[in-house]
Amino acid sequence: MSYFTKRDEETTLPCPHCKKPLHIARTCHEVFMHCPECQKRYTLQTFISQADSVMEEFMNNVYCDRV
Ligand SMILES: [Zn+2]
Repeated sequence: MSYFTKRDEETTLPCPHCKKPLHIARTCHEVFMHCPECQKRYTLQTFISQADSVMEEFMNNVYCDRV
């Protein structure tokens, strides 16, 4: 509907719970992982060590506040 409310992208990381692809999403100042299948939400830190290219690109877009 609008471009600036939320961003949400499917990653290649499987949900630890149901093995479906996790999504990375952000609100205004928070980035997190969530599973649309089982509605679980995970902190980004849990998956940061296995970040795929989708996640890296997503995070680049988020943390673009470099002065
Ligand atoms: Zn799941």
